[in-house]
Amino acid sequence: MTEQEIIEQVYTCASCGYCRFGCVVYNEIGFESLTVRGRMQILKKIIEGKMKLTKPIIESMYMCAQCQNCNVRCPTGIDFVKISEAIRETLLKEKIAPESQITLSENLAKDSNPFREPLEERGSWLPSNYPLGKKSENLYFVGCTGSYSLNRIPKSIMRVLDSIGFDYTILGPDERCCGSPILRAGDRETATKTIEKNIGQFRKLGAKTIITACAGCHTTFIHHYPPDFNYIHFTQLFAKLIKEGTLVFEKELNEKVIYFDGCDLGRHSGIYEEPREILMAIPGIELIEFQYNREEAECCGGPVLGANADLARKIAATRVQEAIDRGATLLVTACPTCLLNFKEGARTTGLQLQMQDLSLLLPKYVKAKKKD
Ligand code: SF4
Ligand code: SF4
Repeated sequence: MTEQEIIEQVYTCASCGYCRFGCVVYNEIGFESLTVRGRMQILKKIIEGKMKLTKPIIESMYMCAQCQNCNVRCPTGIDFVKISEAIRETLLKEKIAPESQITLSENLAKDSNPFREPLEERGSWLPSNYPLGKKSENLYFVGCTGSYSLNRIPKSIMRVLDSIGFDYTILGPDERCCGSPILRAGDRETATKTIEKNIGQFRKLGAKTIITACAGCHTTFIHHYPPDFNYIHFTQLFAKLIKEGTLVFEKELNEKVIYFDGCDLGRHSGIYEEPREILMAIPGIELIEFQYNREEAECCGGPVLGANADLARKIAATRVQEAIDRGATLLVTACPTCLLNFKEGARTTGLQLQMQDLSLLLPKYVKAKKKD
C-alpha cells in the first residue's frame, strides 16, 4: 500500500467503531488506541503534524494480530492489515522498528527460518532413504515449523499420502522459508529473494501443484507467489480425495469436536468448509461451532506472541474457555501456531481440554489402500 493510499484510508474512517467488535487485542486490553478507529485517529494527527511518532506508537504497530477481523466488520473497507504491513516496512527500512523485529529480519536473512536453525538441517527429519531430488507434479512444501519444531506434522501428512499411494516430492534441505515471517517483519527485499529461490526449486523438480500443511505458507503462496503453480492447503487436497472415494476413514472418533478457523487459513485464504468436511468424514464425530466462526472467527492470539507473549496466552485462553463453554471435548485447528498458542493459553490458566492439529489427528483413522 502506498503512502497516498494510507492517507486516503485514514481520512475515509467514519469513526463508527464497528472494528472494535472482533478485535482480540482491544477486547483483551481495552485501550481505544489499539482499535483501528483509535489507530486511524493517531495516524491522522501524525499526518497533520499534531503528534510525533513516539516509541509507544511504533510498538503498538506490532500489537496487532493482523487477523483481518476489523476488515470484515468495517463498512468503509479499511484494510488495517495492509496499512500495518506498509508501516512496518517503512519502520524497518528506517531502522526505527523495535529491536526484536530488526533481529528477526537479520536472522531470517541469514538462516531462512525464524528459529535460528541451520539451513542444512531443514530436511533432517526425513527418513535416511528418502529420495531427495525426486521429480513429481505434486510438491509437498513442509515449511519452517514442520521442518524444525513440529516434525510430527509432515510425518503425519506423509503417512496419509503414502497409505493411499499418492505421488509427491519434498525439497528437504533445498526448501527455504515461504517468506511469511519475513513479510510480517516488513523485510520485503529478503522475502523476494527467498521466494525466488523456492520458485527455482519448484521448477527444478517439475512441480505443478504446491501442497502445504502450514496455513501461513499457504496464505503467502496465494498472495505473494507468481500464479505459475496451483497452491493448495492439505485440507483442500484431502477433502477432494474424500469426495473421490480415495481417502476413507474407518475408525470411530467419539468426541464433540469444535473446529477453530485460524485467520491464515480462514479470512486470509478463504478455506472454511474443507477442514469441516474432513472431520465429518470421520465416523463418530459430532461437529460443533464457536459462536463466531468462519469469516467472523476471533483470532487465537498467536501472531502477537513475539510482541507480547502474555497477551497472546490470554487471548488463547479466552478461545479455549469458549470451546469448553460450547460443550466441546476436543478442539481441532488446522494451524500449528494456533495449536501451540492454545496449549500455552490453557496451561497458564489451568484450563483442561483435549486439543489437536487436524493433520496429526488423521493417520490413526485412515483406511489404507490395499496393495495390488
Ligand atoms: S487485524 Fe485483528 S488484531 Fe489487528 S486491529 Fe484488526 S481486528 Fe484488531
Ligand atoms: S469500522 Fe472502519 S470506518 Fe468504522 S471506525 Fe473502524 S476503521 Fe473506521
